[in-house]
Amino acid sequence: MADVTPRRYPEMKGKVALVTGGTTGIGLATAQAFAHEGATVVIASRNEKRAQQALLGLADVGRVSWIACDVTSGRDVERLITTISRDHGHLDYAFNNAGSGGKMSPIASMSEEAWGKTITGYLTSVFLCMRHQLPVMLKAGHGVIVNNSSVDGLRGYPLTGGGAYAAAKHGVLGLTRSAALEHAKDGIRITAICPGWIGTPLVQNYIKKNEEIGARILGQEPIGRLGTPAEVANGVLWLCSDASSFALGSPMILDGGYMA
Ligand code: NAP
Repeated sequence: MADVTPRRYPEMKGKVALVTGGTTGIGLATAQAFAHEGATVVIASRNEKRAQQALLGLADVGRVSWIACDVTSGRDVERLITTISRDHGHLDYAFNNAGSGGKMSPIASMSEEAWGKTITGYLTSVFLCMRHQLPVMLKAGHGVIVNNSSVDGLRGYPLTGGGAYAAAKHGVLGLTRSAALEHAKDGIRITAICPGWIGTPLVQNYIKKNEEIGARILGQEPIGRLGTPAEVANGVLWLCSDASSFALGSPMILDGGYMA
């Protein structure tokens, strides 16, 4: 995984970056990008085996460690942030990316359980993360938070069954905008990203198994291909960097033209 790309953001050297769900897909690519810039990176997720695999791949890139955390548990998230504060003294960047939900199904037949699991997994989790990250950043007087929403936070889900997911992702944007306004004068910038279809292992497998849906997904991308996790990581890093010092509250859309 050795990367010879020049560093772009020297201000990130020695800073502490948290990436929730940093063991696969978009989170893993973002953890790698932060580490490449010289940041000390903490990744947080549930599955230890997957985390150890990710750490192996990231060892050559920079300083990365893992903390077990289920972002749907307030207690876990509190422990995560307390541990980072204790071990590193500060938290400069947080990418609230982790998410998972209940069974997808049409709204007319969706169970309350599936609804609740998706809202908790994709929206409440982001609230819990900001709830515990903000006091630490407020104390330091600086910090950047980027929440991972989706193009589905801006429009209805384009395939049947994604109503709860789209509702959660819309919620992430409402939460992001409100938090950004609450802290606009506190030295803390809070933004979100809205990726289109990204070729993470999960999406790639889904497309492989469902050729017809795969063709529909590709058809929704005017650019004619899926985005890569690294392309999303590029956006997250820019939003965290000093180069984006006037970016606040509004989401960055990274979608190959999907929303155009
Ligand atoms: P992914 O490959 O499924 O990875 C999800 C990551 O989150 C894993 O590291 C997973 O690890 C962790 N995670 C899931 N639930 C968690 C929980 N409750 N607590 C802690 N960690 C948890 O996902 P991805 O495709 O990269 O997507 C990442 C984010 O981007 C999600 O919020 C997704 O909605 C958003 N997004 C994705 C796309 C896309 O096309 N892929 C497009 C737009 C937005 P463990 O399972 O080990 O916990």
